[in-house]
Amino acid sequence: MTGKKATFRISEEKRRILLVEDDLINQEMIRESIGETYDLIVAPTGEEALAVIREQYETLSIVLLDLNLPGIKGIEVLKQIKSDPAFARLPVIVMTSDSEAEVECLTLGAIDFIPKPYPASKVILARILRTVELSEDRNILRFTERDLLTGLYNKDFFYRYADQLDMYHKDAPADAIVVDVNHFHTINDRYGKARGDEILKSLAEKALGIVNETGGIVCRSGADTFMIYCPHRTDYGTRFLNGLCVPLSDDESTENYVRIRVGVYADVDKTLDIERRFDRAKMAAEAVRDNLTNPIGVYDHSMREAEMLADQLIDDFPTALKEKQFAVFYQPKYNIRSDAPVLSSAEALVRWNHPKLGMVSPGVFIPLFEKNGLIQELDRYVWSETAAQIRNWKERLNVSVPVSVNVSRIDLYDPDLIDKLLAIVKTDDLRPAELLLEITESAYTENSEHIVEKVNTLRELGFKIEMDDFGSGYSSLSMLPKIPIDALKLDMMFIRSAFGERKDTRLLEAMVRLAASFEVPTIAEGVETAEQVLALKAMGCDVIQGYYFSRPLPANEFETFITEKRELPPVTAL
Ligand code: C2E
Ligand code: CA
Ligand code: CA
Repeated sequence: MTGKKATFRISEEKRRILLVEDDLINQEMIRESIGETYDLIVAPTGEEALAVIREQYETLSIVLLDLNLPGIKGIEVLKQIKSDPAFARLPVIVMTSDSEAEVECLTLGAIDFIPKPYPASKVILARILRTVELSEDRNILRFTERDLLTGLYNKDFFYRYADQLDMYHKDAPADAIVVDVNHFHTINDRYGKARGDEILKSLAEKALGIVNETGGIVCRSGADTFMIYCPHRTDYGTRFLNGLCVPLSDDESTENYVRIRVGVYADVDKTLDIERRFDRAKMAAEAVRDNLTNPIGVYDHSMREAEMLADQLIDDFPTALKEKQFAVFYQPKYNIRSDAPVLSSAEALVRWNHPKLGMVSPGVFIPLFEKNGLIQELDRYVWSETAAQIRNWKERLNVSVPVSVNVSRIDLYDPDLIDKLLAIVKTDDLRPAELLLEITESAYTENSEHIVEKVNTLRELGFKIEMDDFGSGYSSLSMLPKIPIDALKLDMMFIRSAFGERKDTRLLEAMVRLAASFEVPTIAEGVETAEQVLALKAMGCDVIQGYYFSRPLPANEFETFITEKRELPPVTAL
């Protein structure tokens, strides 16, 4: 920063006091008494006082109010402040020579009294300080200010403070920064929760050290996420990455450090909500997730465009649902254990046929709807459509084709999930086993006990569970045997890496072996070539889904897989 040193710390600010007093001599006396300790704004009339309060309410700590004013009277000013919920929390100390007025003022909400003629400065100061502290304590208690583990502010409080900083420094450029720990749950798994907590504490301490030096505030906003709001700077790399260096284990000799990623939204647009500014910083941090070479993401134009698209998709969602712009496509899964592959089930995959944007991929809108909860409505729609389709095939073609639907990790937190699913199968007179449920492995890592309990209930009711994206979720292996499932779907990444440039199938083989140890069928998805089918069959994989057999298709096109039992060559002869 050049020029004036950025003072950006709330503790450095003098508290601001509004003195409502028309008498010049009295104004001077008060200024003499408290002017050094407090930042004093003087309003000589009630009208002016109310205008100041309306404009600067957030920055005021207290109002000293003379009752005997020209124009509207002090009592009236007090009434107006206390009757407006927006200002009612502002403490008011009344100053008057009329001791009779005391009771009335206190019932109207004045917090204290200073008699005229004025007592000694010391007395005035002490009364003001007591009042300010009392009311600040009260405000603070309204929010539980601090995070218990790290002692940093919590998110609510942080946002309030950030807003206040903006009030004091309207024109100072500022940055919103998010710091995330990479794969924190694996740290917890490997080094234990106590070490995990220690790591978070040291990160917190270091982050606090940085803002104490450069100005700004910091909070812990989630398990392993910190947010920083500070004067604009450009040395993120050295400052944050080097400054937040914490060893993984407490063994002194270690050379391994906790890996963090940093998202920066620089020179924030202060017309945006504070939450929105940090959403941008988070977006920037997400952009470098798992990026080993560059751990710092900076919010830029392309992210702005993605954000605008996201806003549009969210706005368009209700109409899209109403107008049935979402279509369910079906992709077949074939059992390859016997010589000729046999259709075993299908997966329902949603598509958005957007009137302006054309076909939008679920890869774009699912993560977005998971973030704001719309996914629950969408999934419920997809499940109902799928159930209706299964019934339709049963009635018209006289076959039951089980179809799996995707159950987002967000759905698992819906207390009505089980009732919703039961209602859906009931409507179409299906057995729960006809609607398979795909749950991604990473859902289990988030809150495993809760999820395992839900999934157990679903299975007791007869639903079949397929664990999706197996191998991608960093589940600890010790947890896996506890997880109730009926099939495992290997993450596509294993197929990609096994048949990519290096053709190293060892990892894939190990995964198939691991899957087999669960004694449930193994499904490989994303299978595109005959070579892959053969190799997977040889490894012991049971079911295959992928472009090799078919892309996901609209229901009527998929139907040919059922009716014609499309003649497929025996796998051995591929
Ligand atoms: P997923 O559940 O892992 O689904 C498999 C994805 O792989 C699908 O992408 C599918 O079209 C694609 N795929 C299938 N075979 C092949 C292949 O041989 N090669 C390649 N390269 N890709 C193949 P899609 O349809 O774009 O869906 C992406 C993700 O969006 C899905 O991943 C799933 O997580 C999510 N999703 C899709 N529909 C829904 C839904 O209705 N609800 C929820 N919650 N999520 C959904
Ligand atoms: Ca899936
Ligand atoms: Ca998958």
